[in-house]
Formats: sequence, structure tokens, C-alpha cells
Amino acid sequence: MSRKIRMGMVGGGRGAFIGAVHRIAANIDGQIELVCGAFHIDPEISLLSGQDLFLPADRVYRTYHEMFEKESKMPADQRIDFVSIVTPNHVHFEPAKLALENGFSVVCEKPLSFNLDEALELERLVEKTGLTFAVTHTYTGYPMVKQARDMVKAGAFGKIRKVVVEYPQGWLSTPIEQTGQQQASWRTDPKRSGKAGAIGDIGTHAENLAEYISGLKITEICADVSTFVPGRLLDDDGNFLIRFDNGAKGVLHCSQISAGEENALNIRIYGEKGGLEWHQMEPNTMIVKWLDKPAEIYRTGGDRAYMGENAMAHTRVPGGHPEGYLEAFANIYRNVARVLQAKAEGRDPDPKYLDFPTVHDGVRGMKFIDAAIASGQSEQKWVKI
Ligand code: NAD
Repeated sequence: MSRKIRMGMVGGGRGAFIGAVHRIAANIDGQIELVCGAFHIDPEISLLSGQDLFLPADRVYRTYHEMFEKESKMPADQRIDFVSIVTPNHVHFEPAKLALENGFSVVCEKPLSFNLDEALELERLVEKTGLTFAVTHTYTGYPMVKQARDMVKAGAFGKIRKVVVEYPQGWLSTPIEQTGQQQASWRTDPKRSGKAGAIGDIGTHAENLAEYISGLKITEICADVSTFVPGRLLDDDGNFLIRFDNGAKGVLHCSQISAGEENALNIRIYGEKGGLEWHQMEPNTMIVKWLDKPAEIYRTGGDRAYMGENAMAHTRVPGGHPEGYLEAFANIYRNVARVLQAKAEGRDPDPKYLDFPTVHDGVRGMKFIDAAIASGQSEQKWVKI
């Protein structure tokens, strides 16, 4: 292919958190260029945000409706190939649907949508159009997470029996939404976040990571869901017993009131012969434990012969040079770009690039939210996904 893949963006304007991370990630491998966007709910701030990024004035739109209308009428050699949706949860569905209906692929933030019905409609549209749809469950992008998944898949630990995954943060320990803090305001508002707070925001990441590494599906949940901060309308803490489709059992907790915690997503998985332990805040290291020999410490790095092919395909630097969040995000974008290039050239994509969370993973996240909230509200407790 003789050009970069062209990206438009919805959201991510001045004052936004994750949009800038997406722009950096999309840039890292030089396969993607940002060509347009509707960056803010306020049209004037959208225009200013586009100026900040030195985009041509005629490609900075006041609304995403205008963006899809104009982009879809542009010559094929100019219009976007895909859109990156980095808005709050209640503004995922409509731009994603418009993108698919206008022939554009999508990279969408998690949770996939405001509710499960919207997610199922997006899944149907993706199946109907054959377009590419990625959901940015970032943590599956880390090389060591790929290594963990491949070791489990290869049977290194035997049949998986137990999964323990936790995602504690502390930044919502006080009612900062009442001060107008932008990111807290919509995350704690049922009209913009959906039926879940912390469960949707970070519980879905934990659910996705557990299913991605273990290769198993969660089938049932028994939940204890709480709102600790007075006046808050959505959950800020959730504790779950989980059951998997192979009979494995697990524990998942997510919390945004774990005072002092930063972003402590951690996972431990145990099979019949051994287990693994990975900490997102130390992402280049994995501890592998065995029944019959001492534990091993795996470290990422482009010069590590013991790392598997898939982990190496998602590693950029030699050992000892930290790779982290931005590169994990970039792995999702790089893979999407490779898939779009192959499709544009009429080729089947190299299977190693098909490794990113899809609309189906997004639907599973929404089902997890529904089951978690239903179980939290039920006396009977065990709820099927
Ligand atoms: P934010 O409030 O910082 O930014 C949201 C942006 O969307 C703002 O610029 C806002 O003006 C814009 N926006 C809102 N409505 C719009 C509309 N109609 N048209 C155009 N722009 C519009 O939010 P955030 O913290 O960046 O979160 C955004 C999304 O990213 C959420 O779904 C969140 O769950 C997700 N997120 C994911 C990760 C991850 O690790 N994958 C991390 C953080 C956030």
C-alpha cells in the first residue's frame, strides 16, 4: 500500500483524557495519519481543538454528523478509512453506527456502548458490513499479556482452575464529581455512563483481561456491588465470584474508592501444573510458578529468545527499555492498520494482526455489566451471563 491509513476522530478535544493517548498510539508505527475530526461536544471547541492539531480547516467538523456526511462524499483517495471514537459511553453508539453505515471501520473506546441493546446492534452491523471494529481494551495489547495467553493456550499450566483478577483505583474516593471534574462527572452520571460506574469503567477491563489470557468465558457471576461515596448515583466498588465455561472458578474485583491506589490491574491464573502472575504497573515482568520447580521471572524485550512469536510481534524495544501503556495501545492501532491495509489490497490479513479486541469482546463487556448489576441487586445472587 502506498499511503498511510486515514483516521478521523470523534471526541478527544481540548481538556479530554484519552483522545490524546489514542493519537499518540496511532502515530507510533507510522501507519496511520489523523486527517479529520469532530473533537468536542461544543462545536467551537471542536474547531479550536482541530487547530491545535494543525488540521486543515475544512477537515475539522463542528459535529460528527457533519463529519460522516462530508467524509462519505469525498473521493476515495481522500476520505477516512476508519474513525476513532473517544467520547463518553453514551456517545459511542451513534457515531459507531453512522461510521459503519457510511462504510468506515471503527476503533471504539470501552465499554462498547451505553447499554446491551446498542452493543448487539453494532455487532449485527459489523457482521452485515464486514467492516473492521476494534474495542480498546488496552491491556490485551501488552507483549507480556500475549505471552501469558499463548502459554495458557499451549497448555503450559494444564487445565485452568482458578483466575484472580483485581482492578483497584483510588481517584474516586471523594465526590470529585461535585467539583465539576470532567472525567468524574460523566463517569458517575447514569445518563452518560450507563447503568454501571466502576464496573463499566474498569470492571470490563478486568473481565476482558481474564477472558483474553485464560481463553475461557465467564458464565456466571455472584456480585456484591456498592456505592461508598454519599450522593454518588453509580457503583464505585464491586466484588465478584465468577464461574467459567470449563468449570474454573474466579474472583474479580474492581474499585475506584481503594484510596491511594493508582491503576493496579493485577491478574493471577492457576492451572493443574502451575500458574502466572502479571501486574499492569510492572508490565514487562511476569512471574511464572510451577508445582515441581522454582518460579521463573519472564521479562519482555526484543532480544529475548524465550518469548513466544506473538509476544515478539508486539514488542518494539530491547530488554531493559520499558514498554508500557502507549505501546500497548499502539499495538491495537498497528494491528487494525495492518488489517485495513490487507483489506484495501484485497488480501487476507496476516492472522497475527487479527489479535485485537473486537465488537464481540465489546458485547461480552456489556453482558458482564448487565449480569454484575443484576446480581448485585438480587438476593439469589448467581446470575448467568
Ligand atoms: P473525557 O471526558 O476526558 O473526554 C471526552 C471527550 O469527548 C471530550 O472532548 C468531549 O467534549 C467529547 N465529546 C462528548 N460528546 C461529544 C460529541 N457529541 N461529539 C464530539 N465530541 C464529544 O473522557 P475520557 O476519560 O477521555 O473517556 C472517553 C472514553 O474513553 C470513555 O468511553 C472511557 O470509558 C474511555 N476510556 C478508556 C480508557 C482505556 O484504558 N481504554 C482509558 C480512559 C478512558
